[in-house]
Amino acid sequence: SGAETLLEVTNIEVIYNHVILVLKGVSLKVPKGGITALLGGNGAGKTTTLKAISNLLHSERGEVTKGSITYRGERVQDLSPSELVERGVIQVMEGRHCFEHLTVEENLLTGSYTRKDGKGAIAADLEMVYQYFPRLKERRTSQAGYTSGGEQQMTAIGRALMSRPETILLDEPSMGLAPQLVEQIFDIVKRLNEEQGVTFLLAEQNTNVALRFAHYGYILESGRVVMDGPAADLRENPDVKEFYLGMS
Ligand code: ATP
Repeated sequence: SGAETLLEVTNIEVIYNHVILVLKGVSLKVPKGGITALLGGNGAGKTTTLKAISNLLHSERGEVTKGSITYRGERVQDLSPSELVERGVIQVMEGRHCFEHLTVEENLLTGSYTRKDGKGAIAADLEMVYQYFPRLKERRTSQAGYTSGGEQQMTAIGRALMSRPETILLDEPSMGLAPQLVEQIFDIVKRLNEEQGVTFLLAEQNTNVALRFAHYGYILESGRVVMDGPAADLRENPDVKEFYLGMS
C-alpha cells in the first residue's frame, strides 16, 4: 500500500563484545498504521533488532557497526531511549519489566513522565488504558509484582500507551502466557492499531498467532532476513508452513 514509512532499518550489522556478529545486514520497513511482525526462532536476532532501534544495546556491550536506522526519514541511531519516546517510539521489553514494588496504576503513570500536556490529558489516557484492559482497573491498587504474568504484560503495554506513542516496539508479547491469554493480548493490539492508530513492530516466536494479527512479516534466521511479505502470503507459503507453522 501507499502508507508512509515511519521506521526504516537499512542493512544494519550488530556486533556484541566487539567480536560476535549477530545481525548480518537486516533491513525492514514499518509503515504508518500497520502491524509488522518480526519472526524467527530462538536466537534469530529479533530482540537484538528491536534493541538496536531503541538504542538499548550499549548495556549489553553491543553496537550497530553498519547500516542506518531512520524514523520519519531522520536518523535516530544516536538518540537515547527517552529522546526516542519524545519522537513517538517506545519499546515494551521482553519479560514485561514492571516495577514490582509499585502498584499497577503507579506503573501505568510512570509511562507519562515525558509528557508535558498536563494532568487532565494524563487522567483521560489512564481511563483509555483501563478501557482496553478492564482487568488492570480491577487490579489498580495491587502491587505489580504480585499480579499474574498476563496482567504484567498488560501493565507493560498500558505503561507504553501512557506516553501517547505513535509506534510501539513490542518484544515477544506471547512469552510465557497461556494460549487464551496470548489471543486476548493480540486482540487488544489489533484494536489499539485500528481504533487508536498505533503502529506496531512486534517480535514474536509464535508465528502462527503473529501472522494472524499482523499485516506484514519479516522472517529472520541467524541474523538475516530470509523472507518477507504480506502476512496472508506468508501464511500460505509452503516453507513457512513447514518450518514455522508446524503443518506442512
Ligand atoms: P529470543 O527469542 O531468544 O530473544 P531473538 O531472536 O530475540 O531470540 P536475540 O536475543 O536477538 O535473538 O539473540 C541473537 C543472538 O545474539 C543469539 O545467538 C544470542 O546468543 C546472541 N546474543 C544476544 N545477546 C547477547 C550479548 N549480550 N552478548 C553476546 N551475544 C548475545
